[in-house]
Amino acid sequence: MNSSIQRVAAMIEGAQHIAVLTGAGMSTESGIPDFRSAKGLFTVNRSFAEVVSIDYFQADPVGFWKDFRDIFRIKLAGHYQPNAGHEFLAWLESRGKRVSVLTQNIDGLHTQAGSHEVLELHGTLMTAHCLNCGEVYHVGYVQDHEIPECRECGEIIKPDVVLYGEAVPLVERAFRLAARADVLLVMGSSLEVGPVNLIPAEAAHAGVPAAIINLTPTSMDRFFNARIEAKIGEACTALRERLES
Ligand code: NAD
Repeated sequence: MNSSIQRVAAMIEGAQHIAVLTGAGMSTESGIPDFRSAKGLFTVNRSFAEVVSIDYFQADPVGFWKDFRDIFRIKLAGHYQPNAGHEFLAWLESRGKRVSVLTQNIDGLHTQAGSHEVLELHGTLMTAHCLNCGEVYHVGYVQDHEIPECRECGEIIKPDVVLYGEAVPLVERAFRLAARADVLLVMGSSLEVGPVNLIPAEAAHAGVPAAIINLTPTSMDRFFNARIEAKIGEACTALRERLES
């Protein structure tokens, strides 16, 4: 791992603007299972993409909330803590780098760790709203109500996460940020979920050097100039030591 750490540290050191695309693997060391595990936990006779979908929410909002609540451990939302990976990105920012965090995560941990420029590409678990009247609710309301209904109009409210079948409104901005950055860093993503998984190709097309920290290979690995195959906590601790020396 040493030579890849050196290589990625040099890429970071030489960059002023770093775009960082993060995925569920970023938060596993905070105790939140990644996508694969969430699929593993899911036992009902439907695929993950079918359950976490706008079609299911519209057809059966009661069923949707029962499944969604289990998959995303709604009871625990807001109680997780950032880990060494989230802290590393906030630390880079404190050293004067511009760090644009493009995250697929909906757990709010980047902001909690102190990152200031965070694009939550798949939305957030921390709020929900009524599609009928627009009333906004904090996750606490959702935690307190098994089937959360709007206090204003009685409709069942929708979590502010981007469901399968919905557009990803911030993705064009993410493409632009990645294409204009000095370096793209990807952390903890299988790069299997579109359209976000096109970000490394977009950066490569613009000539932006890229690195990935992930436990397992991805089908997009050809777009990276460097790979660190390790746990994010371990890799970020080593990178930080290197950058401080
Ligand atoms: P994914 O589960 O498809 O891939 C996670 C990747 O991270 C895997 O390749 C795995 O090998 C790697 N990984 C896991 N733990 C790691 C660690 N400690 N260090 C380094 N690598 C590690 O995740 P994805 O690509 O983000 O796609 C999943 C989708 O599910 C996203 O759309 C996301 O919105 C959603 N999701 C979010 C959360 C969250 O907010 N924390 C959790 C589960 C799912």
